[in-house]
Amino acid sequence: MTENVTEEPTERTLVLVKPDGVRRGLSGEILRRIEAKGYVLRAVQLLDATTDVLHRHYAEHEGKPFFEPLVEFMMSGPVLAAVVEGEDVIKGFRSLAGATNPTEAAPGTIRGDLGRDWGLKVQQNLVHGSDSPESAAREIGLWFPGLA
Ligand code: GDP
Ligand code: MG
Repeated sequence: MTENVTEEPTERTLVLVKPDGVRRGLSGEILRRIEAKGYVLRAVQLLDATTDVLHRHYAEHEGKPFFEPLVEFMMSGPVLAAVVEGEDVIKGFRSLAGATNPTEAAPGTIRGDLGRDWGLKVQQNLVHGSDSPESAAREIGLWFPGLA
């Protein structure tokens, strides 16, 4: 039998728990939701993000009014970076995360249940998830340069 030969390799995405999530003690709750869904943590690290990595990570937003406040916010405390694996995990994690604006994010999602954006210059929406296979490959290389 050769049933498995044509299967696509399992997909990977880059997840960040942003400084608001780490500061509020929500890293465990967020990782719990990822694992409860059935996704697998391939690599996890807690680190202080550099301005260089953040400018490259958020390059698509350079020039927007929220760009500099966003970079500053992302440097306000440690970030938890994770490589998460699973079938259709790029789309699936963004479903778990919910809409970018925590006020609009549906209940049941990470941002809808736990995120805040009132009175803040940057949406403190707890998590980042890659938005395409190309972004995932680029972002995993940026945050985990040693990972095969
Ligand atoms: P994401 O892919 O859902 O994280 O959203 P984007 O890639 O569009 O934006 C990156 C991050 O910038 C978001 O997660 C927010 O933290 C922040 N952000 C995006 N849009 C806005 C905005 O209109 N206003 C503010 N204050 N922050 C924003
Ligand atoms: Mg994005």
